[in-house]
Amino acid sequence: MIRTGLGYDIHRLKSGRRFLLAGVEIPFPKGEDGHSDGDVLAHAVCDALLGACALGDIGELFPPSDPAWKDADSMKLLKDVYERVNESGWKIVNLDCVIICENPKVLPFREAIRKSLAETLKTAPENIFIKGKTKEGLDAAGQGKAVESFAQCLLEK
Ligand code: MG
Repeated sequence: MIRTGLGYDIHRLKSGRRFLLAGVEIPFPKGEDGHSDGDVLAHAVCDALLGACALGDIGELFPPSDPAWKDADSMKLLKDVYERVNESGWKIVNLDCVIICENPKVLPFREAIRKSLAETLKTAPENIFIKGKTKEGLDAAGQGKAVESFAQCLLEK
């Protein structure tokens, strides 16, 4: 049996915050604001995985109202999510993601991000892909005020 899942997230960019994509820190004057560490890609991947298994969503499992998740390492949340996925009998086939921001450029960090996700999802980097897109100056992401991410996964059991 196979199932797909789709995840999306957006975070404001703010000075004094780290810019994290799947736990990989990208040198940039601003980073993702949020209750947790704000890792937009980790959050989109969590929702894709949870959605594929109908196990809930990230806001339900790790509510921003709960002080336990203040400044949480989102890759630990992703690890927890993937354990739930495994416990329900599913494992990842592949994961494809899009990061949307004007800056920083994602391409130089693509391999590090693929490796980080592959380790957490116990798969090969070949099963994971990441694409950076700009928004042609449009909307919040296009004006450098936010970063967005989409993630789509295929799971099998
Ligand atoms: Mg988020």
